[in-house]
Amino acid sequence: MMHLNIQLFAVPFRKVSKTRGRKRRTHYKISENATVKCPKCGAEVRPHRVCAACGFYKGKEVIKKDSAE
Ligand SMILES: [Zn+2]
Repeated sequence: MMHLNIQLFAVPFRKVSKTRGRKRRTHYKISENATVKCPKCGAEVRPHRVCAACGFYKGKEVIKKDSAE
Protein backbone atom coordinates (compact mmCIF):
# COMPACT_ATOMS: atom_id res chain seq x y z
CA MET A 1 0.00 0.00 0.00
CA MET A 2 1.39 3.39 -1.05
CA HIS A 3 1.37 6.01 1.64
CA LEU A 4 1.81 9.53 0.32
CA ASN A 5 1.89 11.33 3.65
CA ILE A 6 5.66 11.76 3.39
CA GLN A 7 7.22 13.90 6.11
CA LEU A 8 10.04 16.13 4.90
CA PHE A 9 12.44 17.47 7.48
CA ALA A 10 15.82 19.11 7.70
CA VAL A 11 18.79 16.85 7.01
CA PRO A 12 22.12 17.57 8.70
CA PHE A 13 24.65 18.69 6.09
CA ARG A 14 27.06 15.91 7.10
CA LYS A 15 24.41 13.37 6.18
CA VAL A 16 24.15 14.73 2.63
CA SER A 17 26.86 13.45 0.31
CA LYS A 18 29.15 15.88 -1.50
CA THR A 19 27.67 14.84 -4.84
CA ARG A 20 24.10 15.24 -3.68
CA GLY A 21 24.74 18.67 -2.21
CA ARG A 22 26.64 19.82 -5.30
CA LYS A 23 23.94 18.52 -7.63
CA ARG A 24 21.37 20.58 -5.74
CA ARG A 25 23.57 23.66 -6.00
CA THR A 26 24.04 23.46 -9.78
CA HIS A 27 21.43 26.24 -10.06
CA TYR A 28 23.30 28.53 -7.68
CA LYS A 29 25.16 30.77 -10.07
CA ILE A 30 26.55 34.26 -9.99
CA SER A 31 25.09 36.38 -12.75
CA GLU A 32 27.59 37.44 -15.39
CA ASN A 33 26.98 41.16 -14.92
CA ALA A 34 27.27 41.23 -11.13
CA THR A 35 29.17 44.52 -11.04
CA VAL A 36 28.74 47.90 -9.42
CA LYS A 37 30.49 51.20 -10.04
CA CYS A 38 33.28 52.04 -7.62
CA PRO A 39 32.26 55.26 -5.80
CA LYS A 40 35.90 56.33 -5.68
CA CYS A 41 37.15 55.85 -9.23
CA GLY A 42 34.07 54.67 -11.13
CA ALA A 43 35.56 51.37 -12.22
CA GLU A 44 33.39 48.30 -12.59
CA VAL A 45 33.82 46.24 -9.44
CA ARG A 46 32.29 43.11 -8.00
CA PRO A 47 29.91 44.08 -5.19
CA HIS A 48 31.27 43.71 -1.63
CA ARG A 49 34.84 43.48 -2.92
CA VAL A 50 37.78 45.83 -2.70
CA CYS A 51 38.15 47.86 -5.88
CA ALA A 52 40.95 46.38 -7.97
CA ALA A 53 41.71 49.75 -9.60
CA CYS A 54 42.08 52.01 -6.54
CA GLY A 55 42.12 49.58 -3.62
CA PHE A 56 39.27 51.27 -1.75
CA TYR A 57 36.42 49.63 0.09
CA LYS A 58 33.78 51.39 2.23
CA GLY A 59 35.59 54.71 1.83
CA LYS A 60 38.85 53.40 3.22
CA GLU A 61 42.05 52.51 1.45
CA VAL A 62 42.45 48.81 2.00
CA ILE A 63 45.18 48.03 -0.50
CA LYS A 64 47.94 50.50 -1.25
CA LYS A 65 47.73 51.27 -4.94
CA ASP A 66 49.93 54.37 -4.77
CA SER A 67 52.49 54.23 -7.56
CA ALA A 68 54.45 57.17 -6.08
CA GLU A 69 56.13 55.28 -3.28
ZN1 LIG B 1 37.97 52.27 -7.32
